[in-house]
Amino acid sequence: MSASGAGGTQDLNGSFMDENCVFCRIVRGQIPSPRVYEDDQVIAINDINPAAPIHLLLVPKEHVESLMTAGPQHEALMGKMLLLAARLAREQGSDNGFRVVINNGPGGGQEVFHLHMHVLAGPRPWKRTL
Ligand code: 5GP
Ligand code: ZN
Repeated sequence: MSASGAGGTQDLNGSFMDENCVFCRIVRGQIPSPRVYEDDQVIAINDINPAAPIHLLLVPKEHVESLMTAGPQHEALMGKMLLLAARLAREQGSDNGFRVVINNGPGGGQEVFHLHMHVLAGPRPWKRTL
């Protein structure tokens, strides 16, 4: 059963999903994208247009637009994602560090309006600045 909301639906776990959002569609498996990692709250995928040799996207399953619309209920999730970034960067082969980028809103350069963390690592040069 799902309840309709403004421009989206709630899934069985009550998470908000936006029908038109590319990351919600990936989360639901409507756009195939191999998972580097998945749990009940988060997926990690490879960026389709990688800026660095390792370029992961950590995407919460819940549709949250950005840090500007995140709330106190997302505090634990944000912390978990940061620690996951470190773990996955290491597992993907970065032994000397990594970068985490979160673009927020048009002014922050965000293009996909579903909160996500970029995790970048690997030897320079990197292709572009996020
Ligand atoms: P933003 O600019 O919003 O921070 O970053 C969006 C990122 O999502 C970009 O790096 C872009 O390459 C990536 N992206 C956009 N569409 C897709 C997609 O369908 N699959 C994957 N894996 N990455 C995507
Ligand atoms: Zn979404």
